[in-house]
Amino acid sequence: MPSDLVIIGAGIAGLCSAYYARRRGLSVTVLERNAAGADACSTGNAGMIVPGDFVPLASPGMISTGLRSMWNPESPFYLRPRADPDLVEWCWRFFRASNAKRADAAGPILTAAQMDSRALFVALSEQAGLDFGLQQRGLTMICATPHALEKKAALLDKAKALGTRATLLDADGVRALNPGVEIACLGGLHFPDDCFLDPRRLLEALHRAVEDAGVEIRHGVSVTGWQRRGRVIRAVQTDHGEVEGKQFALAAGSWSPRVSAGLDAHLPMQAGKGYSMTLEQPPAMPTVSAILVEAKVAVTPMGRRLRFGGTMEITGLDESISQRRVDGIIKSAGQYFPQFPASAFAGTPVWRGLRPCSPDGLPFVGRLRKHDNVLVATGHAMLGVSMGPITGEIIAKLANGDKPPAYAAAFDPDRYN
Ligand SMILES: Cc1cc2nc3c(=O)[nH]c(=O)nc-3n(C[C@H](O)[C@H](O)[C@H](O)COP(=O)(O)OP(=O)(O)OC[C@H]3O[C@@H](n4cnc5c(N)ncnc54)[C@H](O)[C@@H]3O)c2cc1C
Repeated sequence: MPSDLVIIGAGIAGLCSAYYARRRGLSVTVLERNAAGADACSTGNAGMIVPGDFVPLASPGMISTGLRSMWNPESPFYLRPRADPDLVEWCWRFFRASNAKRADAAGPILTAAQMDSRALFVALSEQAGLDFGLQQRGLTMICATPHALEKKAALLDKAKALGTRATLLDADGVRALNPGVEIACLGGLHFPDDCFLDPRRLLEALHRAVEDAGVEIRHGVSVTGWQRRGRVIRAVQTDHGEVEGKQFALAAGSWSPRVSAGLDAHLPMQAGKGYSMTLEQPPAMPTVSAILVEAKVAVTPMGRRLRFGGTMEITGLDESISQRRVDGIIKSAGQYFPQFPASAFAGTPVWRGLRPCSPDGLPFVGRLRKHDNVLVATGHAMLGVSMGPITGEIIAKLANGDKPPAYAAAFDPDRYN
């Protein structure tokens, strides 16, 4: 008997879709090419839930920042030039989206979706058996230079207009939030409603919850193609044979464009590689999560452990680790937190993940126009965890024939088709 919904990919987007679809009574199968417990982008990230982050990746100033960083091997941003028409198209669309008008239009949509997602996270964390270390303690964007602090201060009015609580802090204010931590900074912008969690615990909890609810998760099964009957997809081909379904959801992260080959779909996406390192015994423990603004490094307490994450390398699906850029993260950590010299990171394993990046900073979440029974849930870039639950909720509503929130129209997966 075909499942009501077959989901491709067991990252945060796929598992949240499975969770909310099953809660609506749909039968669900998840196909994941990796073994259970393997690393994906959804496990080693910074685990921040950021309704206060309403500025999309494509925003004014990003192009010049990117060009300036290109020649610095330790910079947090890098784009490897290559003769690839997909990259050329993505860069062109990113360039077109990086202006104040488009960023201002994206702001209210990102805020509304992330506020809804935050509320779903809180509800999830209150369910028995779903403990993933959710901390509702806020996030501070810490600035070390007057220029960065001025730029963040300029966001204050926009944040308020969007209904986002935010406070501008001086250096003592930043330190007061993190007793016992030496912080070299001029101040910061604090978002008290942002949250953080341990993403691996979240994935494990969701995995258990959906399996307990009757979802079949098939690991080690890679989707290789689509079986069509006219506009309708009847089954996916996999390396373990065909899997039939009534509806399908493509949630294969950075590999989604590749998996979508054979569909009448066009998902311009690039993988944005990032690294993280998790200190098991940090020399000091911040109380709230932080973005080190100039360095673009995320810092997240996870129980007794502390995670530093950063860099955005547009280098295709290459998963190799650039030690120079990892060194850049370590150096920045010591500049903001003098208690964290490079020696504090000695021997710490480096994790890497590929963020699925759309060109305009909005995800692709919705139904494909040319295939009545295919849904898409990808392209969240730096917001995949933060928007995980609302993504799952939208997919589940669409799969069940319910109306999604109005803002989901902006996530149309056919907007470039
Ligand atoms: C350093 C770093 C820090 C980050 N910090 C944050 C943060 O603080 N907050 C936040 O919101 N986001 C953050 N992100 C981004 C976030 O991690 C991603 O947006 C999110 O994990 C993407 O989830 P996904 O489910 O779309 O993709 P993935 O997690 O990549 O999952 C896709 C899955 O699809 C599977 N798959 C691929 N191809 C196939 C196939 N052919 N058949 C079957 N299965 C397939 C893959 O194996 C994979 O398991 C960070 C990312 C990085 C790199």
